[in-house]
Amino acid sequence: MASVIMPAVPSESRPGRFGIYGGRYVPETLMAALVELEHAYDAAKADAAFQAELGMLLKDYAGRPTPLTFCPRLTEALGGAKIYLKREDLLHTGAHKINNALGQGLLAKRMGKKRIIAETGAGQHGVATATVCALLGLECVVYMGEVDMARQELNVLRMRLLGAEVRGVASGSKTLKDAISEAMRDWVTNVRTTYYLLGSALGAHPYPTMVRDFHRCIGREMKQQILEKEGRLPSAVIACVGGGSNAIGAFYEFLQHREVRLIGVEAGGSGMELGQHAVRFRSGTPGVLQGTFSYVLQDENGQIALTHSVSAGLDYASVGPEHAALHDAGRAEYVSADDHAALDAVVKLARTEGILPALESAHAVAEAMRIAPAMTAHDILVVNLSGRGDKDMGILARELKL
Ligand SMILES: *Cc1c(COP(=O)(O)O)cnc(C)c1O
Repeated sequence: MASVIMPAVPSESRPGRFGIYGGRYVPETLMAALVELEHAYDAAKADAAFQAELGMLLKDYAGRPTPLTFCPRLTEALGGAKIYLKREDLLHTGAHKINNALGQGLLAKRMGKKRIIAETGAGQHGVATATVCALLGLECVVYMGEVDMARQELNVLRMRLLGAEVRGVASGSKTLKDAISEAMRDWVTNVRTTYYLLGSALGAHPYPTMVRDFHRCIGREMKQQILEKEGRLPSAVIACVGGGSNAIGAFYEFLQHREVRLIGVEAGGSGMELGQHAVRFRSGTPGVLQGTFSYVLQDENGQIALTHSVSAGLDYASVGPEHAALHDAGRAEYVSADDHAALDAVVKLARTEGILPALESAHAVAEAMRIAPAMTAHDILVVNLSGRGDKDMGILARELKL
């Protein structure tokens, strides 16, 4: 194994802080709840019975480990690096989100909370949460922006069928940010009975750390699988970055292996102007949004900017604080793929490999397609395929004129 273990990777400098980022910027009423959650999570993390139950559900219910699939026809078509996909799309409910939903669902149960609230963008986290609530017998309320409800209608119907109540959010841009605000408002009001099951590596401490931990299985399996198949680590791991949960889950196991490039792909949307994309690392600046200090798309007055992406799951004005630290430290690179590149990647992957990626995941595939041709056959790219494309068929039919 040609890998050098090096220390001094930007990691949590103190609990909940990633360099200068992260923290806990919430109203006083939520402080006690976050401290309670932190202690409950620390205890659960150290409890072998909790880990065993989670491990069993990940395996027998969700379908872990997911395969690492080599893409021979895509590799040949691009003519450079070998391309592998980590198949989170094959998990129950169709995306990586179930890893975190199962972890937090079990934690809520352990804490004696019977009512679960969640926010959702593309609807994948809402579906995963509704699924876990059905499995564990918990009440479930999901907040979702009305724009997202319209473009991800299938997931709204899935949540309802699973017994969840979907509450439409009509404020602001009617997307993920507004759904998170509504969920936080609900939590403030019902904090004693209610568990807030946050869907990405975002928000106040302990969420970014906890959500990352629940997705670490992605990178752990990836590393073991690529070593089995190729006997060496990849040249790069590529993942799309909305809030950053699938990416941090994929990256974390490789942080110490400095020879492995870590590439996060943000949504380039429809143009470079503020409001047309969700590229936090290009035009964002450090600021506080929804409980955490990270890069935020904001105007000169500190008003949160509108964002756009063809993929609802990448359409958010801030990004997980651990990514902010990895960005500033230069350990991970952040690039963007626009709507067109993502749509092209969907078609290319569908027709070369028979795999329909989620539009979010297609951003990562697009970056692999962009850089592979200039690399050699000795290079390996592992793309985290965070979800499957079924939920996007309405958008794809319209955009691709199918
Ligand atoms: C939600 C979602 C994302 C974006 O969320 P992250 O927290 O950045 O991973 C990416 N891909 C899929 C398929 C999703 O459902």
